[in-house]
Amino acid sequence: MAAIPPDASIAVLKSLSQEEINFLLAAVEEEGGTLRPHFDFTKDLHFPQIEGKMVSELKHVIENLIAKGLIDQKLSDRLIACPECGSHLILTYYTCPFCGSRNVLKENLHEHFICGAISRESTVKQGDKLVCPVCKREFKALGKDYSIVGAWFECEDCKKTFEAPVIMHKCLKCGLEFDVRGAKYDHVVAYSPTPLGLEVANRLKLMKAISEVGASSGFEVEWFGTMKGVSGIIHEFSLLIKKQDLTIAVDIASNGNRGLIGLTATLAKVYDTPTVKPVVAIIPKAPAETAALAARYNIVVVEGDTAEVIKERFADVLKRWTGSS
Ligand SMILES: [Zn+2]
Ligand SMILES: [Zn+2]
Ligand SMILES: [Zn+2]
Repeated sequence: MAAIPPDASIAVLKSLSQEEINFLLAAVEEEGGTLRPHFDFTKDLHFPQIEGKMVSELKHVIENLIAKGLIDQKLSDRLIACPECGSHLILTYYTCPFCGSRNVLKENLHEHFICGAISRESTVKQGDKLVCPVCKREFKALGKDYSIVGAWFECEDCKKTFEAPVIMHKCLKCGLEFDVRGAKYDHVVAYSPTPLGLEVANRLKLMKAISEVGASSGFEVEWFGTMKGVSGIIHEFSLLIKKQDLTIAVDIASNGNRGLIGLTATLAKVYDTPTVKPVVAIIPKAPAETAALAARYNIVVVEGDTAEVIKERFADVLKRWTGSS
């Protein structure tokens, strides 16, 4: 796999719609890392994890996330679909191959191993017992002294018998009736986050967590806010968190290995914007070399294994600064 360039996740994250964000986070948070649509006869294929939204409603969201390289798809199942309206709310009937009637009686055929007789279910059933109509001995256990060797059908309208019915489907949505040849047989697709998708999701969760801390302390929080540096160059930070004279600039290094690259990028910006209080948040841990570098430029490094831990630590930083300003 090709290495992801350092800022790919930021560029992609900024391109995401709220619906794309919701879908990506649902895929990341799904146990086993695969988001599968659910099916039921009231909602067709849908995602209970995403406000019960239909797969068909999210078609463009899914296409965008795949095009942006954030999720992969894989086959999960197959479902019969209406050739007219595409619905999966499909009923199935056994019909008579001679007259087309749905009024077909189905019986299983039982073979008695002891005497070799093959008999219809209705001739074997005697109360709650199964008795061989030929040798009159009781059946004991399925697979031991008898088995079900096939099925037998009789049309109750034309009275003809047959071994295999014609399978017919009816769409519950538009009412169309169609046979196996006319049916569509759709793929049901499941979705997993790619490595880039995971990185973007982690960055998102981190930005959300830090935003919440800022907002709950009465700060104004701006995502990808910009500031003009002393040099005149406009700098962008992951989060700008402002209250009165205090401006905190937060950059996120969602991947510990890139912490140093992230920190170096922040350094250049911080050097040019001396009025901001700079913070770099890193999951899970900043590389050892960063501590001295960060200290020299008064950059506060907040590190932790999860967004929750970082949230707590950032709250402490905020308390320290608001207490002293
Ligand atoms: Zn018939
Ligand atoms: Zn028998
Ligand atoms: Zn239909």
